[in-house]
Amino acid sequence: MAKKNIKILGSGPTGSLLALNLASKDCNVILIEPLEEKDLLSKDKGYAITQSSRRIFEKFGLWELIEKSAYGFTTLSIMDQEISSSVIVRANDLKKLNDKQINLGWVIDHRDLMKILLDSINSNRYINKFKVDSTDDKTFDFVLAADGRDSSSRKKWKIRYFKKFYNQRCISFKAILKGAPQKRAYEIFRHEGPLALLPLKNCTYQVIWFSSIADTQQKLSLSDDELLNRLSLILPDKIIAEKVVGAISNYSVAKAFALPKLTNIRKLIIGDSAHSFHPVGGQGLNSCIRDVYEIGEILNNLENKSNLYRKFIHLNYFLKRSNDIISLIFFTDFLIKLFSNKIKVTYPLRNFIFYFLRKIKFIRSNVFSLMTDSIKRYKLDN
Ligand SMILES: Cc1cc2nc3c(=O)[nH]c(=O)nc-3n(C[C@H](O)[C@H](O)[C@H](O)COP(=O)(O)OP(=O)(O)OC[C@H]3O[C@@H](n4cnc5c(N)ncnc54)[C@H](O)[C@@H]3O)c2cc1C
Repeated sequence: MAKKNIKILGSGPTGSLLALNLASKDCNVILIEPLEEKDLLSKDKGYAITQSSRRIFEKFGLWELIEKSAYGFTTLSIMDQEISSSVIVRANDLKKLNDKQINLGWVIDHRDLMKILLDSINSNRYINKFKVDSTDDKTFDFVLAADGRDSSSRKKWKIRYFKKFYNQRCISFKAILKGAPQKRAYEIFRHEGPLALLPLKNCTYQVIWFSSIADTQQKLSLSDDELLNRLSLILPDKIIAEKVVGAISNYSVAKAFALPKLTNIRKLIIGDSAHSFHPVGGQGLNSCIRDVYEIGEILNNLENKSNLYRKFIHLNYFLKRSNDIISLIFFTDFLIKLFSNKIKVTYPLRNFIFYFLRKIKFIRSNVFSLMTDSIKRYKLDN
């Protein structure tokens, strides 16, 4: 059986994982990435990893390495500071398919994740990396673009893309926080936007702090000490913010969705280049990992599939992924609309939601399972 020739544009987390997945499935991969490896590693970010991603990494044979670098958390505290309500989700709220897990989820530093992926790519003889693309698209069976939110491939291929920015922005940085219960992550809803605290090693947390565009701008002008003082004022559980570690980045946030182009049979966009939603709930990279898994499944054993199937691969992929993506866009949007305000008429519903999440394990477990297992359960038993 002839190996398929695949070109992947972009070696962020999505493109790198895609290259590794396809190289393990009878593909020769050309990976194009304009950035140097040190620049690819240098982003100061942390990602929440869910159970669905853990299962996919296990299937790809990468979990052992990732688990060593990731920090597992056993409880997640979800709070609504406006109505002073909260609920704690624990590992025993996980569904049966995760019953051996002691962790609810994990947090991994961008650098550690990329190091694992790039080291595996560098030792894989089926992947060749280039900084500049001097190849002809026609010589490839598929060209897959994972070139991020501002994808130039999406524009070049004239793919329809719907995008709407939120009137929130966030700053993201690592900080030493003292006084929090061990292995606890936080999602705190505030009227200005959510605040996420993702635990990493040694009392270090990835802080992802949303507020209005003007307020974010103002926060960026503060000294580290002023920023930490402001953060300490709103931190729960008597947590104290002690030190900023590394750089402070800021991001705009948008909900966005690309439609497949019927004439682009052999060109697909995946990961952030194809979709975007509010980072509340930490789903961004996890959805990209599910994209990678589905592409691998679709391209695997293509020879044994019908002509019709092969002709409409891009539609097939779109149908497989659209449920998950559209629900995430709506779900995260609903969370932001309901919880990022001081509108008193929303308070009874918010109280009601927290009451039922606290009191009824069945509801807590099902709602949380949507975020951690995704709509499609990815049991992945061999
Ligand atoms: C504040 C914030 C917090 C987040 N928190 C979480 C979280 O907790 N959990 C989570 O799962 N997700 C989170 N996300 C989302 C996550 O960061 C993204 O989903 C993820 O980085 C997307 O990876 P990607 O590889 O698709 O895109 P990118 O990381 O943007 O990578 C794209 C790559 O393509 C390259 N490139 C660009 N143009 C070209 C070209 N023409 N040719 C070739 N290559 C090109 C770029 O150099 C880059 O390396 C968060 C996002 C934000 C903004």
